[in-house]
Amino acid sequence: MTNLTGLRPIDRKEHLKIPREPVPKQPPEERIHNFNEVYRGYNEETVIIEASRCIQCPEPQPCVLACPIHNDIPLALWHTANGDFIEGYKAYRLTSTLSEVCGRVCPQEKLCQGACVVGAHGDPPVYIGKIESFLADYIRRHGGLNLKPKPPTGRTVAIVGAGPAGLHAAELLALNGHSVDVYDAWPKPGGLLHYGIPGFKLEKDKIEALIARIEKVGVRFICNTRVNDPGQPSVDDLIEDYDAVLLAIGAGITATMGTEGEDLPGVWQSIPFLVATNVPESDLPEGTPIPEIKGKKVVVVGGGDTGSDCVRSAVRADAAEVTLSYRRSEAEMPGREEDRGFAREEGVKYEFLTQPVRFIPGEDGSVSKIEIRRMKLGEPDASGRRRPVPIEGSEFILDVDLVVLAIGFWPDEKFAKQVEGMESKRWGEIKVDPDTGMTSRIGLWAAGDAVNGADLVVTAMASAQRAAVSIDRYLQTLTDEYQRLHVASRIKEPVAA
Ligand code: SF4
Ligand code: SF4
Repeated sequence: MTNLTGLRPIDRKEHLKIPREPVPKQPPEERIHNFNEVYRGYNEETVIIEASRCIQCPEPQPCVLACPIHNDIPLALWHTANGDFIEGYKAYRLTSTLSEVCGRVCPQEKLCQGACVVGAHGDPPVYIGKIESFLADYIRRHGGLNLKPKPPTGRTVAIVGAGPAGLHAAELLALNGHSVDVYDAWPKPGGLLHYGIPGFKLEKDKIEALIARIEKVGVRFICNTRVNDPGQPSVDDLIEDYDAVLLAIGAGITATMGTEGEDLPGVWQSIPFLVATNVPESDLPEGTPIPEIKGKKVVVVGGGDTGSDCVRSAVRADAAEVTLSYRRSEAEMPGREEDRGFAREEGVKYEFLTQPVRFIPGEDGSVSKIEIRRMKLGEPDASGRRRPVPIEGSEFILDVDLVVLAIGFWPDEKFAKQVEGMESKRWGEIKVDPDTGMTSRIGLWAAGDAVNGADLVVTAMASAQRAAVSIDRYLQTLTDEYQRLHVASRIKEPVAA
């Protein structure tokens, strides 16, 4: 954190009088017909006004503490308020390579903005996320920063997974002069950013520009390659071929409900559904199934962000009726309130305190009805949220054409078990040293959701940052003799976590 507070004279009382500058949005009746972002973003005048609402709190600034990667927000806002967008963006670049993403998809109301003291004065907090995404877009529109990698070190890194953790680590390591190859199973890099997050939150051209920037600093993407699958390179192959390997494979295994009829045709898992509705066909593997949604009754099950993404995608795919079923009340929903507000404006219906107990096939064998049970709230469970308790005899039948299950994700336990000497936890999370991100295999690191379980883009970045710093240090001191003795011989080291 840079302590420049004393160098930033500001009349706090005057700045607190500045009202929040609204961000223009697409109206609901327009946006339900496209996958473009809802927010149209600040322009060069309005962003200055909004950044001027920051009162440059003294350290430790609550917004910085609440940001998982500790972006120097006040410094960025100071430059922005003074109209210096390049320096504003550079302040974010000190700790982040994905400002165009985080400014859009972080739950800022729970992180930086939630902690902003302007909000504590009864006014809306500074719109930190919207300013961050403006700066990233401004820099991109103006040709980007001239990022120059350090001279080549001659060391090589393989990263498995081209999602947020993999991309963040790849750019950091390439800028430090290492040769970086990123392997990914999908036809295009970006992982969750391209294949999971709908365009109405993060447009695809932003990801394409991000990938082009990362390629420009020397990172090579090797797509259509699922590491450890038959006929594809294994983790052991990569350990032998590269000086360091980072697993950033995400948490892509979808949770199941164990409910009768869950595997009927017409019952979709959230990721295949989002992929099929949001990604251009040219970016999909051949034969990717595409659901028929137009004119259909769609029910999405699950109260997280993915559930919101699915209902809003179904609306844009011209579903006749879209309902979200969640087993607790709205107060316990983990997904962002803003997304729910948007979804309601777009015509989505919510059925709180409901739980599907049976998916019923129609004459053609596809799902045609759901038996749903009403729930009530009981005592809090281990998560602190009140437990849903079934109300016996409350079951009712809902007609449906398509169901989407958005009830959670896990890391791939099978993958973790395939890697000799690499320890994992109960649900498949890869065990790493919390300070370095190194696994129990020397020369093998892991980061992101594969370690933390399904979490935020910004928490994946935080762990990728730790791993990248550790890999860099390791590569700087690595000798060929050490590698021959310890890495290639696959010595196993116990890890603390
Ligand atoms: Fe806020 Fe996320 Fe940006 Fe941090 S990374 S400043 S939490 S939007
Ligand atoms: Fe500025 Fe709010 Fe951070 Fe204070 S908490 S430095 S007002 S953004």
